[in-house]
Amino acid sequence: MKIGIAGLSHETVTTLPGFTGEDSFENDCKRGEEVIVSARGSKSSLGGIVDFCERNKVQLYPILDADGGVSATVLDEVYLKYKKEIVSGFKEIFPELDGILLALHGAMATETIQDPELDLIKGIREVVGYDIPIMAALDLHANIDSAILKETNAIFGFKSSPHIDKTETGNKVASCMLDFLKGKINPVTAIVKPGLVVPSVFSATGRVPAKYIVERAKKYLENPEVLDVTVFFGFAYADVYNIGLSVVVTTDGNIKLAEEIAQDLGNFAYGHRIGLTTSDNLYKVEEGVAFSIAQAKKASRPIIILDHADRTGDTTFVLQELIKQDAQRVAFPLFYDPEAVQHCIKAGVGNEVEVEVGGKSHFRAGEPVIVKGKVIWVGNKEYIGTGPMRLGSKIKLGPTAIIQAGGVWLQLTTNRKSLIDEDPIIQFGYDPLEFDIIVTKSKTHFRAVYEDLGEEIVIIDAPGSGPADLGVLGYKNVPPDVYPITKKPEEKIV
Ligand SMILES: [Zn+2]
Repeated sequence: MKIGIAGLSHETVTTLPGFTGEDSFENDCKRGEEVIVSARGSKSSLGGIVDFCERNKVQLYPILDADGGVSATVLDEVYLKYKKEIVSGFKEIFPELDGILLALHGAMATETIQDPELDLIKGIREVVGYDIPIMAALDLHANIDSAILKETNAIFGFKSSPHIDKTETGNKVASCMLDFLKGKINPVTAIVKPGLVVPSVFSATGRVPAKYIVERAKKYLENPEVLDVTVFFGFAYADVYNIGLSVVVTTDGNIKLAEEIAQDLGNFAYGHRIGLTTSDNLYKVEEGVAFSIAQAKKASRPIIILDHADRTGDTTFVLQELIKQDAQRVAFPLFYDPEAVQHCIKAGVGNEVEVEVGGKSHFRAGEPVIVKGKVIWVGNKEYIGTGPMRLGSKIKLGPTAIIQAGGVWLQLTTNRKSLIDEDPIIQFGYDPLEFDIIVTKSKTHFRAVYEDLGEEIVIIDAPGSGPADLGVLGYKNVPPDVYPITKKPEEKIV
């Protein structure tokens, strides 16, 4: 059996200024055999695809795998370059192929193309036709609609956010492809899109009501006719026409069943729209910091402050408030500010500095904060990840500095990363349990580690490019009747 594979990923935050260029993708782009070598054994959907296919003696034809990360709108020319490379790669070899497996994110947006993943698959179909199957693994945060189902034979998404099941998703799509090619199954798919946009912070699948929805979806898998049920929570910060939650159900030849399940879950999710778009436990900056300090006094483990709205790594609202309220024993890892790092490097370890930190990326990042403290570490930091989502990956923080500013241990980096595991603390010789408060700018992925490590998670909805309050973002491409953007809460009360 011969399968072509390719990967292209980007989570596009269209609310950010500027554009994502070729460097972001090319930094981590693999071509040809290198795709297989790097994916093999990795915690990724492509890793799951490669491992499953190799275990089953499938011959793989890799084209390329490029991941541009999470950043601003992708330049048309950059996406089109990778599209051309993937499409022409498959064009050359497709007469030999039995099928194509793709690992995509699903929330990319370019200057003029709002659904590049669909555009890519259509491009592949133009050269390979509809006689061979194409299946894809996507992120739980993909923005999709029914058009992608017309171009693919099946699509599967992650079931967990934090995304600790990427490998399983890759295994699943590969297994479905092989069973289909052997004539064992006949996958048919249905989608329901209830018109609901979920801010990322509420897509954590361990938190209610998202938890109830994925649990209900999982129940349906007990029926042997059901091959897969994925709740795609969508990506709220890409202003695109197909934004929002969708449910995709794949059954073995029973389209009616697929439609019924998708409808049930779509209705169920919409019924939970209030819990999926807001929370009673969402704090403003001042009260959230005060509450965290008070809770830390009686806690035996660190309080985790979730500064979730930051999409640039350098919003300053929470940092400013922690300093103002004189919070003690605070760890603030992975604060993005290359200029401040250079300032600390020049000052040198052991010396006092006064440096403007953060607030440089975007008008929504807040004002720079004047930080006064002692430089306690500088260097160019790289390590191999040990956390559940970065296990075995080489992590490059770039030039990094740590300042002890009053009670705040502030780690400044040159590369943007968010705190989703203990590495940014333990790789520097510290123990997370030494701190009373730890701040993360993650959205859901930190929960894989910090739900257990921390005493309590305090969500602070600071201004930023990814706030829970979507009303401040000024969407232009969202169609009518999408809650809570174009269909407002008050209109929904019946
Ligand atoms: Zn995601």
